[in-house]
Amino acid sequence: MIPETVAQVESHAEVILSPEQRAEENHWRQQLANSVRDPKHLLQQLQFSEAAIRDLLADDQGFDTLVPPTFIARMEPGNPQDPLLLQVLPQAAEAIATAEFSHDPLAEADFNPTPGVVHKYHGRALLIAAGHCAINCRYCFRRHYPYAEQQRSRSQWRASLAHLATDLSLEEIILSGGDPLALTNNMLFSLLDEIEKLPQIKRLRIHSRLPVVLPSRITSALCQRLQNSPLQVVMVIHCNHSQEIDQEVSAACGRLYKAGVTMLNQSVLLNTINNDAASLIDLSESLFKAQVLPYYLHLPDHVAGTEHFFVGIEEGQQLILKLQAKLPGYLVPRLVKEEPGKAHKTLINI
Ligand code: SF4
Repeated sequence: MIPETVAQVESHAEVILSPEQRAEENHWRQQLANSVRDPKHLLQQLQFSEAAIRDLLADDQGFDTLVPPTFIARMEPGNPQDPLLLQVLPQAAEAIATAEFSHDPLAEADFNPTPGVVHKYHGRALLIAAGHCAINCRYCFRRHYPYAEQQRSRSQWRASLAHLATDLSLEEIILSGGDPLALTNNMLFSLLDEIEKLPQIKRLRIHSRLPVVLPSRITSALCQRLQNSPLQVVMVIHCNHSQEIDQEVSAACGRLYKAGVTMLNQSVLLNTINNDAASLIDLSESLFKAQVLPYYLHLPDHVAGTEHFFVGIEEGQQLILKLQAKLPGYLVPRLVKEEPGKAHKTLINI
């Protein structure tokens, strides 16, 4: 099913697309619509036996499964430890509750001056452009975030932008979500039009996992629109493992790079997925080949239901030392963590 916000904007046919661009637009939306929402179907597609499926299935703890077919295609059939599968398959360990792991570990509700805006950092504000993603990552720090209350429509954006327009200290708008590229071009471009009217804004940053999980989203119309923006555009993609980068992903990142977009990656350091030096070295090298600089390696947040993914500071530091021994400095990501109440990420000393 196509997400509601996509269906809602169909009446606003403002972006004029050529037939080829229309075909590109329909293609990614169809791929998104074909996403798997049932873990059993996911495991069946990966050719697990019925007995294995019975063993692997677990309650989703209220966080739905959502995986686009393009991401499933990069998983190894029949491997329960596949690093991509582990990021999206609900696990029994999600039911474990401990006081240290909470629903709003970053206290973002405290930095929410108006619905749809998170304002933590000096000079930058984050706009929740979309309430949905193209994939649901089990470790997500926003898995309990009240998106329904922050659901976006054009009139709600206007209210958020009116709030941002009054703050002349802002230089950068960060589009986040959910995932801003899960919006149609119609919705996204009209939001960009509004942001570009704010005279104090110099930079636009888009945080998106779409170039990785659904590379067909990086259409020629999108690249053209970003290339024509008067703002400097930075895209921070989110990739945790080199197995996520296939030829299509490389090509999508290359298209953005050619359009003048500065391409950075942030990863989350995740137990059993990428907490070993070989995986992180492969990831940095694969990203760079795809024109993307490895920028941040985040220690996981203390999010309820994600303790089984947790990796501590010391292990993170040891891994960065190993990366420093093997890679040039520009391929070693900065190890960071977010701390509730702090107006910036905390850089971890190595
Ligand atoms: S794409 Fe990002 S925001 Fe969406 S579920 Fe994954 S980690 Fe969370």
